Amino acid sequence: MSLLTEHRSGTVDLGPAAALSCRECGQRYPLTPIFACNECFGPLEIAYDLPTGDPEALRRRIEAGPNSVWRYAPLLPVPADVAEKPNLNPGGTPLVRADRLAAELGVTGELHVKDDSGNPTHSFKDRVVACAVEAARAFGFTTLSCSSTGNLAGAVGAAAARAGLRSCVFIPHDLEHAKVTAAAVYGGELVGIEGSYDDVNRFCSELIGDPAGEGWGFVNVNLRPYYAEGSKTLAYEICEQLGWRLPDQLVVPIASGSQLTKIDKALRELITLGLVEDKPYKIFGAQAEGCSPVSQAFKNGQDVIRPVRPATIAKSLAIGNPADGPYVLDIARRTGGAVEDVTDEQIVDAIKLLARTEGIFAETAGGVTVGVTRKLLADGVLDPSLTTVVLNTGEGLKTLDAVSPTTGPTAVIRPDLDAFRDAGLG
Ligand SMILES: *Cc1c(COP(=O)(O)O)cnc(C)c1O
Ligand SMILES: [Zn+2]
Repeated sequence: MSLLTEHRSGTVDLGPAAALSCRECGQRYPLTPIFACNECFGPLEIAYDLPTGDPEALRRRIEAGPNSVWRYAPLLPVPADVAEKPNLNPGGTPLVRADRLAAELGVTGELHVKDDSGNPTHSFKDRVVACAVEAARAFGFTTLSCSSTGNLAGAVGAAAARAGLRSCVFIPHDLEHAKVTAAAVYGGELVGIEGSYDDVNRFCSELIGDPAGEGWGFVNVNLRPYYAEGSKTLAYEICEQLGWRLPDQLVVPIASGSQLTKIDKALRELITLGLVEDKPYKIFGAQAEGCSPVSQAFKNGQDVIRPVRPATIAKSLAIGNPADGPYVLDIARRTGGAVEDVTDEQIVDAIKLLARTEGIFAETAGGVTVGVTRKLLADGVLDPSLTTVVLNTGEGLKTLDAVSPTTGPTAVIRPDLDAFRDAGLG
């Protein structure tokens, strides 16, 4: 109650964020920690008072900003002085021109990999959490929480540690060892739930309504509208790194579908603001076959997503009932893109292909996007002559088990030259 009263007295400063707005019916709400519309239960998102006027001035302001997501603070729900607060300063990751991968895949246009594995906790999740932390601060939450497929737990643990907040995060009990360790090391509470991600998420929704969860900011539940906006920075960075140019085609991984919908939102904002030339772009969604509810709906021409029970090595994308799935379908159809999926074997092959051609070791989610890119090119769905950006959203060291059975030393030999020659290496 006190949170709502505080907001109504006008003390919440989240920069250009003006209100929450229902994606279904357009109903507006003040900036509070809510995530669903009272009228129609639709998801809420941030509506902005975006900067108006000279695009050149805004471009210069952005370019003069820090080399992190905060250079885009004028377009995010964060206070203007955000960069001065203790935070992990994510973003500013490389856009790698991938000529050798392009040659392997038969791409004649520009192929780029947006490599987000270099973020502070080695996945794109640091971007969304950075925005959620600002909302948590604004609303006076002292405990940061989430339901996670692994990467988010680490990002929340680290960001909370830096910000001086308590954290308590929830994960499926059977995640990769590296992800569990990389989340627990930050010293917050980490709870394994006996069930799938969708069970974890349901549990968190119950906790929010219970006195036990009072005063908690769940970054991807009650802070979801704020959190989700962090994904926009991926698209801003890609366009700025292309010289303030829209790519023609983007291949984006889908877990809940939030990242993909916000990339589209960001591209439309850049066009509206006059920061890039208005031209068509296509967005392609990528899933693992073992958790492909959005891809199945797309291929069957359906508008409704049928939930599935995930079974794939791409655990960071293993959300069987993706909240933003219907919006992903809309965006893929509106932009002329598609949603496709690849098998676990194709994911592993794609991880190795990217590593061997570009020196980038991606986690399984990156294997999904590269694998889907390869498949869409082979099927003639992606145009090989255009400028294409493929997202790698996480670091390969977190999912070593995916490649270790088929990757190892070429030989193990005695330290002498005969042995070297005998092994056929000399
Ligand atoms: C969470 C995650 C995504 C995308 O998540 P959305 O819920 O679709 O926004 C992509 N890649 C990795 C590695 C992730 O951890
Ligand atoms: Zn509504």
